Amino acid sequence: MAKRGTPVPTGAGVCPENVEALLRDALQNDRFTLAYQPQVDLQTGQLDGAEVLLRWLPPTGAPVLPPAFIPTAEATGLIHPIGEWVLRTACGQTHRWNANNRPFRLAVNLSPRQFSRAEEIVLAALRETGLDPGRLELEITEQSVAEDLPAAAGVLRRLNALGVRLALDDFGTGYSSLQYLARLPVHTLKIDRSFVAGMIRTAKARIIVENIIRLAHGLSMRVVAEGVETPGQRDLLRRQGCDLAQGFLYSRPLAGKKLRMLLTRPEPC
Ligand code: C2E
Ligand code: CA
Ligand code: CA
Ligand code: CA
Repeated sequence: MAKRGTPVPTGAGVCPENVEALLRDALQNDRFTLAYQPQVDLQTGQLDGAEVLLRWLPPTGAPVLPPAFIPTAEATGLIHPIGEWVLRTACGQTHRWNANNRPFRLAVNLSPRQFSRAEEIVLAALRETGLDPGRLELEITEQSVAEDLPAAAGVLRRLNALGVRLALDDFGTGYSSLQYLARLPVHTLKIDRSFVAGMIRTAKARIIVENIIRLAHGLSMRVVAEGVETPGQRDLLRRQGCDLAQGFLYSRPLAGKKLRMLLTRPEPC
């Protein structure tokens, strides 16, 4: 991880052209890094997988989080080389770690802009790194499938045929059509953290989460709760039968080295 220092000028008020030039420079000069956030089995407490989250290391200052630069990357097309770098690097690291440790599942975010080329880039990353496709899960959002459901279903079927897993991210926000669940070959459903945050406070959020879990299980899908921050949320999710949890209660996103240490440690998180 980069050293902490002066904050990088990528917040509000910075023009996208600046961000674009800085992103090009970052690609050329190796200024991206990956953080891994553990996903933990709610029943056993064991590490089950990790979501990879992109970080940009500017020449000075602290690492920059994706919401500050992914929109510019998407608007300029830079999301393609950046996304391919994420996939290749994360698959390569995971393949090396899996060789010596407890195997785990790697979850990678796929931007809607990358969706049409997904099969091509995933196949290239798997070939290049040798990662077992069953160890890779692609997180897609409803935005990727909303525009053209039949076409999206085709892309996902072809990805499925490669042997990779598919997760529907931020479920419950956006359009959330039940059509998606009926028509898309998805293995995992990620409940958005707004529901997890609300479920202690309101009976309605609790009932929604409970029924999303029941619905997903009825369709043979696994459920990951995002943004789990308190023991109260964890206990409630566990009682509701949720499979996996991800959030600050268990761990912040970690540098690769730290995740590898967790993989060699046998005891539960
Ligand atoms: P996401 O896919 O919903 O990822 C989860 C975000 O929630 C991450 O923010 C993570 O650090 C944060 N988070 C995890 N646990 C907690 C918690 O307990 N409480 C709270 N408040 N937040 C938590 P991050 O790393 O800033 O990423 C933001 C978004 O950027 C991601 O949302 C994802 O949509 C996008 N993103 C991240 N990496 C990539 C990437 O490699 N490619 C693309 N296309 N998008 C990415
Ligand atoms: Ca995600
Ligand atoms: Ca999410
Ligand atoms: Ca999100």
